[in-house]
Amino acid sequence: MLKLAVLLAWAGVAQGASYHFAAVWDGAKLWKDACVVTEGERIASVGACGAGAIDLTKYTAIPGMIDAHTHLTYVLDNRVSQSARPAAVVFLAQDNARKTLETGVTTVRDLGAADYADIAMRDLIAGGQMTGPRMFVAGYGLMVTRGRTSTPNTADGAAEVLRVVRQQVGAGADVIKMYGSTGSGRDVTGFQTFTYEEMKAAVDAAHALGKKIAIHTYGPDGARDAVRAGADSVEHATDMDDATIAEMARRKTFYVPTIDHNRYYVDNFRLLNYPPVAVDGLKDYIARNLETARKAWKAGVRFAMGSDAVYTMFGENTRELGWFVKAGMTPEEALRTATGNGAELLGMEKSLGAIRAGMFADIAAVEGDPLRDIEAATGKVRWVMKGGKVVVDHTKER
Ligand SMILES: [Zn+2]
Repeated sequence: MLKLAVLLAWAGVAQGASYHFAAVWDGAKLWKDACVVTEGERIASVGACGAGAIDLTKYTAIPGMIDAHTHLTYVLDNRVSQSARPAAVVFLAQDNARKTLETGVTTVRDLGAADYADIAMRDLIAGGQMTGPRMFVAGYGLMVTRGRTSTPNTADGAAEVLRVVRQQVGAGADVIKMYGSTGSGRDVTGFQTFTYEEMKAAVDAAHALGKKIAIHTYGPDGARDAVRAGADSVEHATDMDDATIAEMARRKTFYVPTIDHNRYYVDNFRLLNYPPVAVDGLKDYIARNLETARKAWKAGVRFAMGSDAVYTMFGENTRELGWFVKAGMTPEEALRTATGNGAELLGMEKSLGAIRAGMFADIAAVEGDPLRDIEAATGKVRWVMKGGKVVVDHTKER
């Protein structure tokens, strides 16, 4: 028996253990003074405590959170020669992955990367060679022709869209990303790029291969057509009209507004070399984004939390939840967007997004009551477990 335990420990397999919390919010309801028992990488049970539990009674447990919109491979580092950047990206991006775990986010949907650096990261993390959140990745996000050169993600017309979608799936993408409008970084324009027919071709091609599709659109036209075309989620999207919002509610299309990423750009415009005038446009966009979120929430649209984190924004992944509360959600409703809803958007609701027997043992321990104060979840994460292994531990500090 001892031999087996030693062997398992040597192989790096997490063994069963019991963790005692002041409370456990399992994704749906609250257990007071409860224990979570893990078995390997999964949860065995939630309930009353037996002897020998690890004491985490200063904290409330919530499911490891899901950030439905990241770009982990976007790094700001000028020490590596420009020509060699692609070879260095996965190494440099480890920092983003670690900072993401610190926020209690144990899973990300990473929506667009070059050179399949996202696929490499996903596989290295899954293989235990890199520390980071579980990644569900898109490979290249589809774009229309923008200039003289075409890149591996360029597609014009339904036939090319079909080819590029298939290329991403063939390369190992878990989800498809399509840029359905202009707008990114300091550019807050939202002119529709792909037509309805092209979006429909992308949605059909993705769904035919069992993949979901996220469509980026800064403006309302792209959103209207993305929803009509059957996108699984609409990213960003301000100024959506009532008909589009009603259609999203009817189809259960997820809205991932990513309001906080423009706050990050405002706070960091110097670092990012944006002209001061860009700040006005970003602030105006934030106001419209929040207003659209408010309307969509009221109309019954389902939300998922996405940070759209890039560069140095990792570590701030969950601040979006504060905006969701401003848009009218209770803290518990906001937490659902980052747990059960995120899991459903990934098609992983049987394994992720809840603290329940059979689920992955992905847990964040937070100080305070996250159901009363969302800041407990967004700023007071002290301990994080992913797949039964403790990946963040600040419980012994101060
Ligand atoms: Zn993005």
